[in-house]
Amino acid sequence: TPDVRPLVAGNWKMNGTGESLDELRIIVNRPNSAIGEKIDALICVPATLVFRAAQSVEGEALSIGGQDCHTKKSGAHTGDISGDMLKDAGASHVIVGHSERRTDHAETNDVVRAKARAGWGAGLVAIICIGETEAQRKAGSTLDIIAEQLVGSIPDGANANNTIVAYEPVWAIGTGLTPTSDDVREVHASIRAALTGRFGADGAKMRILYGGSVKPANAIELLGIENVDGALVGGASLKAVDFLAICEAYH
Ligand code: PEP
Repeated sequence: TPDVRPLVAGNWKMNGTGESLDELRIIVNRPNSAIGEKIDALICVPATLVFRAAQSVEGEALSIGGQDCHTKKSGAHTGDISGDMLKDAGASHVIVGHSERRTDHAETNDVVRAKARAGWGAGLVAIICIGETEAQRKAGSTLDIIAEQLVGSIPDGANANNTIVAYEPVWAIGTGLTPTSDDVREVHASIRAALTGRFGADGAKMRILYGGSVKPANAIELLGIENVDGALVGGASLKAVDFLAICEAYH
């Protein structure tokens, strides 16, 4: 999208211990990378690593995010993490509504919307994930599902600074499968139209990431598609070399 700075975001999911922080140092120490110059980069680490990750890349062109936050600021919610806690630990972003959260924790659009709002309340940028299942794709209802998730998961008040949308077809996550470029183009165009319709100029500038089996080998093609303003990368973000190779699609 013209005038939109791309973002390549990694999602480590439930992977990583202290030694994984070396990967972050490799990313920031790479000379002549597109990161910082042409694009923004972010790694969403497990909650246990947010503090150490943020410390280890402080002052560098790599941001650190969380993968989920609770809808509330604090309270009797054993095992949960609030947006304020992530922010305090050094995160700048939080993923909400990842399909694994929607599936494993039965998160609805209403819950995802409340989490996005909670993230904003903590001063975090919310990366709101949406995407159809394989059955929905086969039934031809992809665009309807996407439209419904956009309305249900994005709170009023979203703007280009506090919100990023990630289109992640559920069947493409961790499977090695990707939609065709035409399919990605169609969905991203429909998301752009919905965002512009609802949020005006801000909707026109809001980043729309593609996620689902992005790898070094397909990054140039996927990231070159109209209205694809970057990627949300799972498996290929675990190794710095792969993450950097994906970022190089912008060089
Ligand atoms: C993700 O978890 O957001 C994701 C896209 O995973 P992968 O890249 O491994 O498909």
